[in-house]
Amino acid sequence: VSRNPNETEFHQAVALIFKSLSPILEKYPHYMEKGILEQLVEPERVITFRVPWIDDNGKVNVNRGFRVQFNSALGPYKGGLRFHPSVNVSIVKFLGLEQIIKNALTGQPIGGGKGGADFDPKGKSDNEIMRFCQSYMSELARHIGPDTDIPAGDIGVGATEIGYMFGQYKKIRGNFEAGVLTGKGLGYGGSLARKEATGYGAIYFVEEMLKSKGLSILGSTTVVSGSGNVAIYAMEKAISLGAKVVACSDSDGFIYDDNGIDLDTIKEIKEVKKARIETYLIKHPSAAYFSGCNGIWGIPCDVALPCATQNELDSESAKKLISHGVKAVAEGANMPCTPEAIDMFLENDVLFGPAKAANAGGVAVSALEMAQNSMRMSWTFEEVDEKLQQIMKGTYESCLAASIEFEAEGNLEIGSNIAGFKRVADAMVAQGVI
Ligand code: NDP
Repeated sequence: VSRNPNETEFHQAVALIFKSLSPILEKYPHYMEKGILEQLVEPERVITFRVPWIDDNGKVNVNRGFRVQFNSALGPYKGGLRFHPSVNVSIVKFLGLEQIIKNALTGQPIGGGKGGADFDPKGKSDNEIMRFCQSYMSELARHIGPDTDIPAGDIGVGATEIGYMFGQYKKIRGNFEAGVLTGKGLGYGGSLARKEATGYGAIYFVEEMLKSKGLSILGSTTVVSGSGNVAIYAMEKAISLGAKVVACSDSDGFIYDDNGIDLDTIKEIKEVKKARIETYLIKHPSAAYFSGCNGIWGIPCDVALPCATQNELDSESAKKLISHGVKAVAEGANMPCTPEAIDMFLENDVLFGPAKAANAGGVAVSALEMAQNSMRMSWTFEEVDEKLQQIMKGTYESCLAASIEFEAEGNLEIGSNIAGFKRVADAMVAQGVI
């Protein structure tokens, strides 16, 4: 804590991982002897830089850009970019640390990194977003590359922003290096099913969890927070498998539709019009809108999927979900449940899918996008989706196996941290103190 003052989210992420690791450190003391923990929590490199850009009124704005290149034991740094006013070094370090374990869990050859800027895309014109992305990439370009560091999207960064950043990277380097960014448009090197991958993957993971208790998402009542990339495609897959999704949200409030959310309306609001979730009621006047985000967890449901942001589901919310008989909670977002909420789910026999495992589908398909770029070929949607299902099943099984090996059967929080840690730690030991 004294080494990284004021990095609350980063401390939280470190504590969550370390809390799970005692059994593996007792069984394999060489990890401690070789200083793996100390090395794991110190990023290989943190880059901070100025991002100046000119808005539509001719005014100069200055934001702060970040890239944390956290761990390259398993492959080039890989992780998304977040554009949101809350971004600071603590946020990118917490996300980067989680990314190391998550990427290891997918079994793909990728290290961990994360980045972004304290830029707020809300209310900006398309030209302003383009100028910001170009300025951001003008600096980032010198630090990344297809074999070095491969950024992708996250909150506030979708295919549009990736496109502008890719264009600027190409111009600076004078090379068409498709593999430098993932989440690209389909016309210039993107992968089919990447857009859907995190949300679909989270539902595949939920199905594996439910199956272990003889249950299924079919016929369940499901609540999803957020209405961005992860939330929309989690809802799409859940609905296609027979769930009734009754609520979703944005950062202003949430909607409840007893008839089941109409996803086409949500897509139109969020993907096309970039409007507020409240406007859902224009087409669906029988639905209800509530301002504020927390209230969404007071809705009775079988499956709860926090897919918006960190620490959005606290112990009060967990208490409500448990009292309404929730069966499974899976983290589509990164660290959305507070440590107290996680403990309550685990103590009350709620199936809990931690972010590192449950939302790993996005980065897994990003790795498949890199593979397609290297081979200069494209797989069909069905081929990618099939591989995604296999990866999510494998991720679930390795978390479960680790939980059994270390006497915490079914505790996927412990299982995910141990399984991911072991793969990274073994590679770090093999590569020496560097
Ligand atoms: P988007 O920007 O597409 O959507 C984010 C959603 O969360 C929006 O509905 C947004 O509402 C809401 N939100 C953002 N900040 C807050 C906040 N402080 N309080 C309440 N709601 C908020 O992002 P993604 O869907 O890509 O990412 C969502 C989460 O999933 C993040 O934690 C991200 O790290 C994680 N994730 C994303 C992956 C991906 O492939 N995209 C992969 C793995 C994890 P509003 O529009 O009002 O801001």
